Amino acid sequence: MDIIRNDKQGAKVKLERTPTGPPKKTDKEVAKTEFDVLGEELFDLQDLLWGAKMNSVLIVLQGRDTAGKDGTIKHVVGSLNPRGVSVISFGVPSTEEREHDFLWRVHCKTPRLGEFSIFNRSHYEDVLVARVNNLVPKELWKVRYQHIRDFETLLTEHGTIVLKFFLHISQEEQEKRLLAREEEPRKAWKIAAGDWEDRKHWADYTRAYEDVFALTSTEQAPWHLVPSDAKWYRNLVVARAVAEALRPYRETWQARLDEVGKQKKAELRAWRKKR
Ligand code: ATP
Repeated sequence: MDIIRNDKQGAKVKLERTPTGPPKKTDKEVAKTEFDVLGEELFDLQDLLWGAKMNSVLIVLQGRDTAGKDGTIKHVVGSLNPRGVSVISFGVPSTEEREHDFLWRVHCKTPRLGEFSIFNRSHYEDVLVARVNNLVPKELWKVRYQHIRDFETLLTEHGTIVLKFFLHISQEEQEKRLLAREEEPRKAWKIAAGDWEDRKHWADYTRAYEDVFALTSTEQAPWHLVPSDAKWYRNLVVARAVAEALRPYRETWQARLDEVGKQKKAELRAWRKKR
Protein backbone atom coordinates (compact mmCIF):
# COMPACT_ATOMS: atom_id res chain seq x y z
CA MET A 1 0.00 0.00 0.00
CA ASP A 2 1.65 3.26 -0.96
CA ILE A 3 -0.98 5.85 -0.19
CA ILE A 4 -4.26 5.83 1.62
CA ARG A 5 -7.04 7.66 -0.10
CA ASN A 6 -9.83 8.42 2.28
CA ASP A 7 -12.88 9.63 0.46
CA LYS A 8 -15.78 8.32 2.50
CA GLN A 9 -17.20 10.52 5.16
CA GLY A 10 -17.20 8.66 8.46
CA ALA A 11 -14.51 6.19 7.39
CA LYS A 12 -12.14 5.78 10.31
CA VAL A 13 -8.39 5.91 9.87
CA LYS A 14 -5.99 4.83 12.60
CA LEU A 15 -2.86 6.89 12.14
CA GLU A 16 -0.76 4.57 14.30
CA ARG A 17 -1.45 1.78 11.82
CA THR A 18 -0.88 3.88 8.73
CA PRO A 19 2.60 3.58 7.16
CA THR A 20 5.02 6.49 7.39
CA GLY A 21 7.67 4.93 5.16
CA PRO A 22 7.82 3.59 1.60
CA PRO A 23 6.78 0.00 0.88
CA LYS A 24 9.78 -2.37 1.24
CA LYS A 25 10.59 -2.99 -2.39
CA THR A 26 10.40 0.60 -3.59
CA ASP A 27 13.56 1.54 -5.45
CA LYS A 28 14.69 5.13 -4.97
CA GLU A 29 16.22 5.49 -8.43
CA VAL A 30 13.14 4.07 -10.18
CA ALA A 31 10.99 6.39 -8.07
CA LYS A 32 13.04 9.41 -9.11
CA THR A 33 12.68 8.52 -12.77
CA GLU A 34 8.92 8.15 -12.38
CA PHE A 35 8.82 11.47 -10.53
CA ASP A 36 10.56 13.24 -13.44
CA VAL A 37 8.11 11.75 -15.94
CA LEU A 38 5.18 12.82 -13.76
CA GLY A 39 6.63 16.32 -13.56
CA GLU A 40 6.50 16.63 -17.35
CA GLU A 41 2.96 15.28 -17.43
CA LEU A 42 1.86 17.76 -14.76
CA PHE A 43 3.40 20.65 -16.68
CA ASP A 44 1.50 19.56 -19.77
CA LEU A 45 -1.80 19.10 -17.91
CA GLN A 46 -1.36 22.52 -16.32
CA ASP A 47 -1.05 24.06 -19.78
CA LEU A 48 -4.40 22.58 -20.79
CA LEU A 49 -6.00 23.64 -17.48
CA TRP A 50 -4.73 27.20 -18.03
CA GLY A 51 -6.02 27.45 -21.58
CA ALA A 52 -9.37 25.73 -21.06
CA LYS A 53 -10.33 27.78 -17.95
CA MET A 54 -12.95 25.20 -17.00
CA ASN A 55 -11.42 24.05 -13.72
CA SER A 56 -8.97 25.08 -11.04
CA VAL A 57 -6.90 23.04 -8.60
CA LEU A 58 -6.65 23.46 -4.84
CA ILE A 59 -3.93 21.48 -3.09
CA VAL A 60 -4.12 21.49 0.71
CA LEU A 61 -0.95 20.46 2.56
CA GLN A 62 -1.21 19.55 6.19
CA GLY A 63 1.20 17.76 8.49
CA ARG A 64 3.00 17.97 11.78
CA ASP A 65 6.07 20.18 12.15
CA THR A 66 8.93 19.02 9.88
CA ALA A 67 6.56 16.78 7.88
CA GLY A 68 7.80 18.43 4.70
CA LYS A 69 5.15 20.85 3.50
CA ASP A 70 7.80 23.26 2.20
CA GLY A 71 9.80 20.46 0.57
CA THR A 72 6.71 19.15 -1.19
CA ILE A 73 5.98 22.61 -2.55
CA LYS A 74 9.55 23.01 -3.75
CA HIS A 75 9.71 19.67 -5.52
CA VAL A 76 6.19 18.87 -6.72
CA VAL A 77 4.99 22.37 -7.41
CA GLY A 78 8.43 23.14 -8.82
CA SER A 79 7.55 21.16 -11.92
CA LEU A 80 4.67 23.53 -12.71
CA ASN A 81 4.74 26.83 -14.60
CA PRO A 82 4.78 29.50 -11.86
CA ARG A 83 2.52 31.70 -14.04
CA GLY A 84 -0.53 29.76 -12.88
CA VAL A 85 0.40 28.87 -9.30
CA SER A 86 -0.12 30.67 -5.99
CA VAL A 87 1.36 29.33 -2.78
CA ILE A 88 -0.36 30.59 0.35
CA SER A 89 0.92 29.94 3.88
CA PHE A 90 -1.57 30.26 6.69
CA GLY A 91 0.01 31.24 10.01
CA VAL A 92 -1.47 32.46 13.27
CA PRO A 93 -4.52 34.55 12.28
CA SER A 94 -4.19 38.33 12.52
CA THR A 95 -6.65 40.32 14.61
CA GLU A 96 -8.66 41.16 11.50
CA GLU A 97 -8.75 37.51 10.48
CA ARG A 98 -9.79 36.39 13.97
CA GLU A 99 -12.60 38.90 13.96
CA HIS A 100 -14.08 37.23 10.86
CA ASP A 101 -15.39 33.68 10.46
CA PHE A 102 -12.60 31.11 10.04
CA LEU A 103 -13.15 30.66 6.30
CA TRP A 104 -12.93 34.35 5.46
CA ARG A 105 -9.17 34.45 4.97
CA VAL A 106 -9.19 31.15 3.12
CA HIS A 107 -11.98 31.66 0.62
CA CYS A 108 -10.35 34.68 -1.00
CA LYS A 109 -7.20 32.63 -1.69
CA THR A 110 -8.91 29.80 -3.57
CA PRO A 111 -7.78 29.39 -7.19
CA ARG A 112 -9.26 31.14 -10.24
CA LEU A 113 -10.29 28.96 -13.15
CA GLY A 114 -7.15 27.79 -14.93
CA GLU A 115 -4.95 28.16 -11.88
CA PHE A 116 -3.49 26.24 -8.93
CA SER A 117 -3.55 27.35 -5.29
CA ILE A 118 -1.32 25.50 -2.87
CA PHE A 119 -2.25 25.90 0.78
CA ASN A 120 0.65 25.47 3.19
CA ARG A 121 -1.56 24.82 6.23
CA SER A 122 -5.17 25.78 5.74
CA HIS A 123 -8.66 26.05 7.18
CA TYR A 124 -7.92 22.69 8.81
CA GLU A 125 -5.77 24.45 11.43
CA ASP A 126 -9.08 25.70 12.80
CA VAL A 127 -10.01 22.15 13.82
CA LEU A 128 -6.43 21.12 14.69
CA VAL A 129 -4.36 23.69 16.60
CA ALA A 130 -7.55 25.53 17.58
CA ARG A 131 -8.93 22.33 19.09
CA VAL A 132 -5.73 20.94 20.66
CA ASN A 133 -4.74 24.26 22.22
CA ASN A 134 -8.30 25.22 23.20
CA LEU A 135 -8.12 28.44 21.21
CA VAL A 136 -11.88 28.46 20.73
CA PRO A 137 -14.69 26.80 22.70
CA LYS A 138 -15.64 23.25 21.71
CA GLU A 139 -19.10 24.37 20.48
CA LEU A 140 -17.34 26.48 17.89
CA TRP A 141 -14.82 23.98 16.48
CA LYS A 142 -17.35 21.12 16.55
CA VAL A 143 -19.53 22.74 13.90
CA ARG A 144 -16.59 23.62 11.68
CA TYR A 145 -16.40 20.15 10.10
CA GLN A 146 -19.80 20.73 8.53
CA HIS A 147 -18.77 24.21 7.42
CA ILE A 148 -15.65 22.75 5.83
CA ARG A 149 -17.62 20.07 3.96
CA ASP A 150 -20.06 22.68 2.67
CA PHE A 151 -17.24 25.04 1.71
CA GLU A 152 -15.38 22.35 -0.23
CA THR A 153 -18.62 21.28 -1.94
CA LEU A 154 -19.12 24.87 -3.03
CA LEU A 155 -15.61 24.91 -4.50
CA THR A 156 -15.98 21.60 -6.34
CA GLU A 157 -19.31 22.70 -7.78
CA HIS A 158 -17.51 25.71 -9.19
CA GLY A 159 -15.05 23.39 -10.95
CA THR A 160 -12.25 23.33 -8.38
CA ILE A 161 -10.43 20.03 -8.10
CA VAL A 162 -9.73 19.72 -4.36
CA LEU A 163 -6.85 17.50 -3.23
CA LYS A 164 -5.91 17.26 0.42
CA PHE A 165 -2.64 15.74 1.60
CA PHE A 166 -1.60 14.77 5.10
CA LEU A 167 2.16 14.31 5.17
CA HIS A 168 2.50 11.49 7.66
CA ILE A 169 5.77 11.19 9.59
CA SER A 170 6.69 9.08 12.59
CA GLN A 171 7.55 10.56 15.96
CA GLU A 172 11.13 9.25 15.60
CA GLU A 173 11.58 10.86 12.21
CA GLN A 174 10.29 14.17 13.54
CA GLU A 175 12.78 14.07 16.40
CA LYS A 176 15.62 13.37 13.94
CA ARG A 177 14.58 16.29 11.76
CA LEU A 178 14.23 18.69 14.69
CA LEU A 179 17.68 17.72 16.00
CA ALA A 180 19.17 18.04 12.51
CA ARG A 181 18.09 21.69 12.47
CA GLU A 182 20.47 22.33 15.38
CA GLU A 183 23.37 20.70 13.55
CA GLU A 184 22.96 22.26 10.12
CA PRO A 185 23.73 25.98 9.89
CA ARG A 186 21.39 26.40 6.93
CA LYS A 187 18.48 24.94 8.88
CA ALA A 188 19.05 26.51 12.30
CA TRP A 189 16.84 29.47 11.43
CA LYS A 190 13.88 27.10 11.48
CA ILE A 191 14.37 26.15 15.14
CA ALA A 192 11.29 26.89 17.27
CA ALA A 193 10.89 25.84 20.87
CA GLY A 194 7.17 25.58 20.11
CA ASP A 195 7.84 22.58 17.86
CA TRP A 196 9.22 20.65 20.85
CA GLU A 197 6.30 21.84 22.95
CA ASP A 198 3.87 20.57 20.30
CA ARG A 199 5.43 17.10 20.46
CA LYS A 200 3.94 16.80 23.94
CA HIS A 201 0.55 16.95 22.25
CA TRP A 202 1.36 14.25 19.69
CA ALA A 203 -1.57 12.05 20.78
CA ASP A 204 -4.01 14.97 20.85
CA TYR A 205 -3.03 15.92 17.30
CA THR A 206 -3.40 12.28 16.26
CA ARG A 207 -6.98 12.27 17.51
CA ALA A 208 -7.72 15.65 15.94
CA TYR A 209 -6.34 14.49 12.58
CA GLU A 210 -8.27 11.22 12.75
CA ASP A 211 -11.47 13.22 13.22
CA VAL A 212 -10.54 15.43 10.27
CA PHE A 213 -10.16 12.36 8.03
CA ALA A 214 -13.41 10.82 9.28
CA LEU A 215 -15.48 13.99 9.08
CA THR A 216 -14.18 15.86 6.05
CA SER A 217 -13.33 13.13 3.53
CA THR A 218 -15.66 13.18 0.58
CA GLU A 219 -15.50 11.70 -2.88
CA GLN A 220 -14.94 15.14 -4.39
CA ALA A 221 -12.44 16.30 -1.78
CA PRO A 222 -10.56 13.22 -0.57
CA TRP A 223 -7.71 13.09 1.94
CA HIS A 224 -4.48 11.43 0.86
CA LEU A 225 -2.36 10.09 3.68
CA VAL A 226 1.18 10.25 2.39
CA PRO A 227 3.99 8.22 3.96
CA SER A 228 6.52 11.02 4.42
CA ASP A 229 9.52 9.68 6.34
CA ALA A 230 11.39 9.41 3.03
CA LYS A 231 11.26 12.70 1.16
CA TRP A 232 11.77 11.20 -2.32
CA TYR A 233 8.86 8.82 -1.76
CA ARG A 234 6.61 11.56 -0.37
CA ASN A 235 7.23 13.68 -3.48
CA LEU A 236 6.46 10.76 -5.75
CA VAL A 237 3.20 9.93 -4.00
CA VAL A 238 1.94 13.51 -4.10
CA ALA A 239 2.92 13.95 -7.76
CA ARG A 240 1.19 10.68 -8.63
CA ALA A 241 -2.01 11.66 -6.85
CA VAL A 242 -2.15 15.07 -8.52
CA ALA A 243 -1.50 13.58 -11.96
CA GLU A 244 -4.14 10.88 -11.38
CA ALA A 245 -6.70 13.50 -10.38
CA LEU A 246 -6.06 15.73 -13.39
CA ARG A 247 -5.57 13.06 -16.08
CA PRO A 248 -9.31 12.35 -16.55
CA TYR A 249 -9.86 15.99 -17.55
CA ARG A 250 -7.28 15.95 -20.35
CA GLU A 251 -9.71 15.20 -23.19
CA THR A 252 -12.31 17.71 -22.05
CA TRP A 253 -9.73 20.48 -21.72
CA GLN A 254 -8.19 19.58 -25.06
CA ALA A 255 -11.64 19.60 -26.71
CA ARG A 256 -12.32 23.08 -25.30
CA LEU A 257 -8.98 24.32 -26.63
CA ASP A 258 -9.72 22.83 -30.07
CA GLU A 259 -13.12 24.51 -30.10
CA VAL A 260 -11.69 27.89 -29.07
CA GLY A 261 -8.88 27.46 -31.63
CA LYS A 262 -11.43 26.87 -34.41
CA GLN A 263 -13.43 29.90 -33.35
CA LYS A 264 -10.34 32.12 -33.33
CA LYS A 265 -9.28 30.91 -36.78
CA ALA A 266 -12.75 31.68 -38.13
CA GLU A 267 -12.56 35.18 -36.65
CA LEU A 268 -9.17 35.72 -38.27
CA ARG A 269 -10.44 34.49 -41.66
CA ALA A 270 -13.42 36.87 -41.43
CA TRP A 271 -11.09 39.76 -40.55
CA ARG A 272 -8.81 38.99 -43.52
CA LYS A 273 -11.77 38.88 -45.92
CA LYS A 274 -12.92 42.32 -44.80
CA ARG A 275 -9.52 43.91 -45.43
P1 ATP B 1 5.52 25.61 8.81
O1 ATP B 1 4.09 26.03 8.63
O2 ATP B 1 6.19 25.30 7.52
O3 ATP B 1 5.67 24.52 9.82
P2 ATP B 1 6.10 27.70 10.60
O4 ATP B 1 5.52 26.91 11.71
O5 ATP B 1 7.37 28.42 10.89
O6 ATP B 1 6.34 26.82 9.34
P3 ATP B 1 4.50 30.09 10.55
O7 ATP B 1 4.06 30.89 9.37
O8 ATP B 1 5.44 30.68 11.52
O9 ATP B 1 5.04 28.71 9.98
O10 ATP B 1 3.15 29.74 11.33
C1 ATP B 1 2.58 28.57 11.40
C2 ATP B 1 1.89 28.54 12.76
O11 ATP B 1 0.62 29.15 12.63
C3 ATP B 1 1.70 27.13 13.23
O12 ATP B 1 2.13 27.01 14.56
C4 ATP B 1 0.19 26.96 13.15
O13 ATP B 1 -0.32 26.11 14.13
C5 ATP B 1 -0.30 28.38 13.33
N1 ATP B 1 -1.65 28.55 12.75
C6 ATP B 1 -2.02 28.40 11.47
N2 ATP B 1 -3.34 28.57 11.34
C7 ATP B 1 -3.81 28.84 12.57
C8 ATP B 1 -5.12 29.09 13.08
N3 ATP B 1 -6.17 29.12 12.27
N4 ATP B 1 -5.24 29.32 14.38
C9 ATP B 1 -4.16 29.32 15.19
N5 ATP B 1 -2.90 29.08 14.78
C10 ATP B 1 -2.74 28.84 13.48
